[in-house]
Amino acid sequence: MEASEQSNSLQRQRLEDLKTQLNDYAYQYYVLDKPTISDEQYDQLYRELETIENQHPEWITTDSPTQRVGDELSEGFQKVRHAAPMYSMGNAFNMDEVAAFIERVTRQVGTNVSFMCECKIDGLAINLTYEEGRFVRGATRGDGEIGEDITSNLRTIRSLPLRLTQDISTEIRGEAYMAKDVFVKLNEERDEAGQTPFANPRNAAAGGLRQINPKEAASRQLNIFLYSAVYNDSFRPASQAELFTGLEEAGLRTNPLRKVCQNIEEVEAYIKEVEASRQDLPYEIDGVVIKVNEVAHQEALGYTIKVPRWAIAYKFQAEVAQTRVIDVDWTVGRTGVITPTAVMEPTQLAGTIVQRASLHNIDLIKELDVRLNDQVMIHKAGDIIPEVISVLIDERDESSEPLKIPSHCPECGSSLERFEGEVALRCVNPLCPAQRLAQMSHFVSRNAMNIVGLGSQKIKNMLAIDLVKDVADLYYLTMDDLLKLDNTKEQSANKLLNAIEASKTNELERLLFGLGIRHVGLNAAQLIARRFKSMSAIMAATEDELETIDGIGPMISQSIVSYFEQAESHTLIQRLVEAGINMENEDDDEIAQAALEDSFWLDKTVVLTGKMERYSRPEAKAILERYGAKVTGSVSKKTDILIAGEDAGSKLSQAESLEVEIWDEAQFLAHIEEGEE
Ligand code: NAD
Repeated sequence: MEASEQSNSLQRQRLEDLKTQLNDYAYQYYVLDKPTISDEQYDQLYRELETIENQHPEWITTDSPTQRVGDELSEGFQKVRHAAPMYSMGNAFNMDEVAAFIERVTRQVGTNVSFMCECKIDGLAINLTYEEGRFVRGATRGDGEIGEDITSNLRTIRSLPLRLTQDISTEIRGEAYMAKDVFVKLNEERDEAGQTPFANPRNAAAGGLRQINPKEAASRQLNIFLYSAVYNDSFRPASQAELFTGLEEAGLRTNPLRKVCQNIEEVEAYIKEVEASRQDLPYEIDGVVIKVNEVAHQEALGYTIKVPRWAIAYKFQAEVAQTRVIDVDWTVGRTGVITPTAVMEPTQLAGTIVQRASLHNIDLIKELDVRLNDQVMIHKAGDIIPEVISVLIDERDESSEPLKIPSHCPECGSSLERFEGEVALRCVNPLCPAQRLAQMSHFVSRNAMNIVGLGSQKIKNMLAIDLVKDVADLYYLTMDDLLKLDNTKEQSANKLLNAIEASKTNELERLLFGLGIRHVGLNAAQLIARRFKSMSAIMAATEDELETIDGIGPMISQSIVSYFEQAESHTLIQRLVEAGINMENEDDDEIAQAALEDSFWLDKTVVLTGKMERYSRPEAKAILERYGAKVTGSVSKKTDILIAGEDAGSKLSQAESLEVEIWDEAQFLAHIEEGEE
């Protein structure tokens, strides 16, 4: 074989390998929402494939990742064909590539062109269909032509308008994402609950929108930014800038951090500005998108099979740093979960000095095979939480040994357990002082009972001399008790007693959150307290009743019910009641409350089915709930009324066979309007 033939065959082999690898990675990323390599590694391999294909266009096949947008569609969702394809985007990894893009565009459409620069939100592309201003369907991008119907999950996003202010009929596109603070909070809750943490906000958002149960989707608290639309007679802006104003006027959420630039210098300045403030943004971005502003120019430039020729995504370099692991800390959380944290040599990473990185759980430790003294690469997940992403195995000392996983609680010495289906190790000793400390610290924290002046150290001291054993004991402390603590004088003791006293009148949701029930984060506590309005109602609630709340899924409801099944929980609440802690949600509108008590709907269990003219189903649900009804998803013997719109299906026949009262939309409207008078 001649040398050139040999190199050709090697290159061909490489091309086939790259295609297989990249398709596999794309499947993990798009279908399973579980990337196995970083985006940078993926992009590098992708570029290598593109280079070979450019040299040998005759080798390009339709199954190449360069020829496809997205990936296969996952099972379990209806498929929807988009009105016009949803494209991916060409990438630029440095300013030269951005300059080349601008030059090419200018060459083709002339110099009378401007560029809209936008943040590249690191989320999931979504497509919202509006018909005469009503939200009728929402889908993922899928393979670009066909997406998955995720309407009910998208409806849980509060910023998504179900009705626009104008009668627009078209597809509006944008990004669904998880804000950084939500990501951090949910991952803390997942760690505490022994679940695998989300890899990054993008995955958490993508996974959330692909949940079969919309309540799970709601619990991810996603948000949206809209940035494109399919143009038609009902909606046709002349530029990308006009598009944004149009979207805003229609009531759609857009990202204000955008700028029309006239030339490469302005584009570069925008990129620099955004990159510098990236850490401070409440959402994660992975680059800047540069789009030709004028729609006429966009149309002249058109599309390749995969990307628009009028836009490019400048991708930021990933921020990673190398450092050495000095130690691993094992800390005990309030539910007994043991969380490992790598202690590292201090290093600069994305604007801060970092010396601790979460290792989350022992599965992750084993997967990374991280050991003491290892050189590791770290990054910030969600731009905030430092995490170890890989170990530089080649730099490891030969004498190194796998990390020892503790078998006993580092605080109380009792043996650790791992429950089925959980990734966490747990200390199951209810008397473990570290758990008590964590529980009490949580109870007094800012979002819970907000007892100012009571830090972990003080609680530790109180526990050490048996001043308190649980959170209720705080409300029985006296001046004499507090003076027994080291470094506590009358003045500070007085302050603390006042702070404890003041916390007695807190809203119910703070108390519920402060109890530290597994899976019950701040958001869930608010939803539940606002619906049930008293601790006794919450304690009596069944799983089904809890799940009638949007955003409360089976995991949370089971956890609450089993918490209140325990005798100790009742004792604790009783002692809190006796100490005078507020157990009710005050209703600021007593008149509304009185009206509610008279309401026909109060405590009626209602099911909605079929299409209604006047209200969408979520709107009707909200109205019914305002009047005190419980709106559930399925018909059972407990259902009082089924409200059936047009084309009602199996629920209607079920209601008929169970002899449930059936109303049509007119009856429902008549009743509601009567009530509103
Ligand atoms: P992309 O992420 O490179 O860019 C296009 C996407 O950007 C759009 O679809 C849209 O969803 C999004 N976007 C955000 N803000 C936008 C804005 N203001 N205007 C327009 N679009 C905006 O392309 P892609 O096709 O979604 O994904 C490909 C990328 O995904 C790869 O470059 C790689 O980084 C990553 N990927 C990673 C893996 C992995 O295993 N790690 C696998 C496959 C893909």
